This record gives sequence, C-alpha cells and structure tokens, in this order.
Amino acid sequence: MSEERLVPCPYCGKETPFVSSNPHRPFCSERCQLLDLGKWSSEKFRIPAEEAPDLNEVNKNPETDSEDTDQESRGRLN
Ligand SMILES: [Zn+2]
Repeated sequence: MSEERLVPCPYCGKETPFVSSNPHRPFCSERCQLLDLGKWSSEKFRIPAEEAPDLNEVNKNPETDSEDTDQESRGRLN
C-alpha cells in the first residue's frame, strides 16, 4: 500500500499526505501540530477551578449543629 491519502491539516487546512513517514500527521508540519496542541492546552487553563464552599454556609448547615452543641457543653463543663 503505497497510496498516499491527502488530508487537510486540522490547523491550517493545507492538504497533507496521511502516511507513516509524516510524523506530524494529520498536521502538515511540526509547527501546526504544536500550535494546535497549544490551542487545546490554553483552553484547558481557561476552565475555572471549582469554588470552595463558603465557610459561613458550612456553619449554617444543620448537620454541624450537634457538633456545635457538643463543643458548647464541653466548654460549660470546663
Ligand atoms: Zn498545517
């Protein structure tokens, strides 16, 4: 199978032989490959980090009421 299949470079659209001798396939060149990978990694950095739960909201949670009461009674004993 020596037939060369031409595919458009995903970055610049230039027709590129999709063959094992082209280490950058399906890109036309190393430059396009690196630029396209850089595009994806920069998009990753734009994903906002998950917001940490607000401490005030955690204190309002009824599930922590028993703990608060326990600490209060201990303080009275001391
Ligand atoms: Zn290209």
